[in-house]
Amino acid sequence: MEALTTRRKVLEQKRMTLLERIYLPAIASGMGITLRHFFKKKATINFPEQQRPVPRVYRGLHILNRDEQGRERCTACGLCAVACPAEAITMEAAERKPGEENLYREEKYAAKYEINMLRCIFCGFCEDACPKDAIYLETTFAPANYNRNNFIYTKDMLLLGAKREEIKPPLTQ
Ligand code: SF4
Ligand code: SF4
Repeated sequence: MEALTTRRKVLEQKRMTLLERIYLPAIASGMGITLRHFFKKKATINFPEQQRPVPRVYRGLHILNRDEQGRERCTACGLCAVACPAEAITMEAAERKPGEENLYREEKYAAKYEINMLRCIFCGFCEDACPKDAIYLETTFAPANYNRNNFIYTKDMLLLGAKREEIKPPLTQ
């Protein structure tokens, strides 16, 4: 058959020498490489027992923040969802009722707030877009899981605990 290009190369199958046929030099050379790496510093760590330090500006899991009085800061304005390039955020707004002033800072709050961590690209745009300092990206990771549904983080999972020492100061003010 006529060749389409001139780049064709005919390969010859050479007979193996005796040394090549007993494989010992190849095994010794392979063991040499293994031994050389055996005493080198490991490039891997025993995650999750050991964790690498991450810079302070690292963008990991999200946190819904509370104010100094422990009230939810989020007012369900939706700006974070609009800014999100991955369309990972969904929420439902609700009106604050009389007597709930100690729970929610604004008259409107997020009755439902979810982030799909499989969609999220951890860009931090939601944090930048939020006018209420309500959402932060922390330095922790989303733990591995076998079920895709477990990567949908609900408000209960995102909301910062009510303990005062956990409450973060707002970025502005
Ligand atoms: S970090 Fe980026 S991708 Fe993830 S929820 Fe926020 S805006 Fe969306
Ligand atoms: S987290 Fe911030 S930007 Fe997103 S809905 Fe709540 S207040 Fe608005």
